[in-house]
Amino acid sequence: MKHCSSCGQENELRIPDGEDRERHVCASCGTIHYQNPKMVVGCIVEHGNRILLCKRAISPRRGFWTIPAGFMELGESAPAGAARETLEEACAKVEIVAPYAHFDIPHIGQAYLIYRARLLEERFAPGPESTEVELVDPARIPWEELAFLAVRYSLELLCEDREAGRYRHHLGSVVRSNDGFALADHQFFKLASLKK
Ligand SMILES: [Zn+2]
Repeated sequence: MKHCSSCGQENELRIPDGEDRERHVCASCGTIHYQNPKMVVGCIVEHGNRILLCKRAISPRRGFWTIPAGFMELGESAPAGAARETLEEACAKVEIVAPYAHFDIPHIGQAYLIYRARLLEERFAPGPESTEVELVDPARIPWEELAFLAVRYSLELLCEDREAGRYRHHLGSVVRSNDGFALADHQFFKLASLKK
């Protein structure tokens, strides 16, 4: 952030009084420009035994598969945002069933909030950001063609949960590791009372 969004003058990188880390601070008007992680909200839509997946029509990761997910907008709740993304990317009206996973990705400043959801009507189609939308059997999930790691970890855990005949709520962080990336600090909580 080179220039101040309030007055247009140049920012400098310094530690403001009383804080413990560098911020972009306007040298002219003194505005501190805070930068914080963004929330990605999305749905694992289950229909019978299958899961709704979208093939991405846009960058990043064009041509790869994902669950419907995207950046939360100002003025909406996380579950409402997840349902909105599902309508936009898969033209599917859904009802949120339960929280499923919260994965932080510190190195890119993102937090994924993923919900389980169900179709309100059995209709779906590619929205402008997708080229294909399909209900996929868990045995046929294209693991090597998934767009994002947080989506991959969510689907892996969902398959594990379904095989065990129950759902949990998962927490964790996607971090760099020796051989690429890993899900760190994975914790889970039973959500029996929310299961439908
Ligand atoms: Zn300024």
